[in-house]
Amino acid sequence: MTKQKRTAINPRRDEDYPNWYQEVVKAADMAESSDVRGCMVIKPWGYAIWENIQKNLDAMFKDTGHVNAYFPLFIPKSFFEKEAEHVEGFAKECAVVTHTRLEDDGKGGLKPAGKLTEELIVRPTSETIIGASFSKWINSYRDLPLLINQWANVVRWEMRTRLFLRTTEFLWQEGHTAHETKKDALEETFKMLNVYAEFAEKYLAMPVIMGEKTESERFPGAVNTFSIEAMMQDKKALQSGTSHFLGLNFAKASNIKFQNKEGKEEFAWTTSWGVSTRLIGALIMAHSDDDGLVLPPRIAPSHVVLVPIYRNDEEHAKVMAFIDELISQMKEMRYHEEKIRFQIDDRDLRGGEKLWDWIKKGVPIRLEIGPRDIENNSVFMGRRDKDAKDKIGMKVDDFVSNLTEILDEIQQNIFDKALRFRNENMINIDDKVDFYKFFTPKNKNNPEIHGGFAISHWCGNPECEVKIKDDLKVTIRCIPIDAMEESGKCIYCGEKSNKRVIFAKAY
Ligand SMILES: [Zn+2]
Repeated sequence: MTKQKRTAINPRRDEDYPNWYQEVVKAADMAESSDVRGCMVIKPWGYAIWENIQKNLDAMFKDTGHVNAYFPLFIPKSFFEKEAEHVEGFAKECAVVTHTRLEDDGKGGLKPAGKLTEELIVRPTSETIIGASFSKWINSYRDLPLLINQWANVVRWEMRTRLFLRTTEFLWQEGHTAHETKKDALEETFKMLNVYAEFAEKYLAMPVIMGEKTESERFPGAVNTFSIEAMMQDKKALQSGTSHFLGLNFAKASNIKFQNKEGKEEFAWTTSWGVSTRLIGALIMAHSDDDGLVLPPRIAPSHVVLVPIYRNDEEHAKVMAFIDELISQMKEMRYHEEKIRFQIDDRDLRGGEKLWDWIKKGVPIRLEIGPRDIENNSVFMGRRDKDAKDKIGMKVDDFVSNLTEILDEIQQNIFDKALRFRNENMINIDDKVDFYKFFTPKNKNNPEIHGGFAISHWCGNPECEVKIKDDLKVTIRCIPIDAMEESGKCIYCGEKSNKRVIFAKAY
């Protein structure tokens, strides 16, 4: 019998990927299901990751001229009805408020009363309610561009939910902008797509592909939708952010007009763009391993955890004094202009148990500090980008002077690993039989991890897209922005095509 290496997370990725994901979330103590069906409780470790996402993205939004504001959670139904495609796209997911109060039902319970004359929709997205404000705020070309962002929660009713990936309520940001010209609005759409790609790669260490969505995957009411797509370790795609060029659709629906330089009245060109707590799901699935969460330092709630090792009170006092000295040095340091985030795990537990907790939580650097380390003026370091047993002793001075470099190295290693994985599983396919083989598991009853990103020609006909989706559950993730003109044949029907697109299974 060959001995399988013991792992902290069971099942392993190759055994049962969906359950592995749930177990990683649980072991890292990031979130849990709530008593409200479809809604999650984000626990402090998960929320701290969201706060880091917020903080860094918010800075990038402000650097590109955007300001934050806040709009109502409720949208009058009549607002929603103004944009036909928008209604159609979201109708099935809407939570609707119909009453304003509760009263005694005479049986010891309560019943809703005070029926509203106009129902309110709990926002699934805010184009229409923000559009109503924009129509008041914008009068002249001098009021443009208007560049607004909102950090909020939204509700899209879901029957089948998964923590961070798909929940009825989730957190997000939504940017909404209005412009004088089509050109300006398109520039904005791409600018924010680039901000998302830069953020994903730099902070989340997650390589992404920027591209345009096909008509069937477009945001309801948009003229063009662009997205960033990342590959997860089960080789499926995860749409990690979207940027929409809305043309004049929502300006017409909400009557967003301005007087141009010639004194004529025109509709404004609008955009919207968003990322959500889904990014945390992407982060987990892109990097984590069979021992749990793996966090890139730039987004990790803690960069370093210090674990004191001792046998008695006397040793404990010595070790803690040594740790105090070390953290006073770390407090002076900056990592990408931020303070070093650290914590001391002084819980009354065995050292090994504590260390495994931090491995499962994905902390980039673990330091074990015991009496022998103090004698040598050293620390014993483990890194989350390496095997759990691969630890080295280091002089304290060396550790301190190299800390930011080590963090950057971990960040880079995590990115490189994800990029290598994606590149190994992203291939050009020109033959229909090969294409079908690529996306069909060998074991139907217990499908192994298979497929990846197929870069293949598509004729542009939505029918070919539908057929492929029906046969394989594979969709066109995007038409890459940098796709080169190249003549070929549609992977499904064999008709002429001039571009390759990315096909994949997706979340
Ligand atoms: Zn075709």
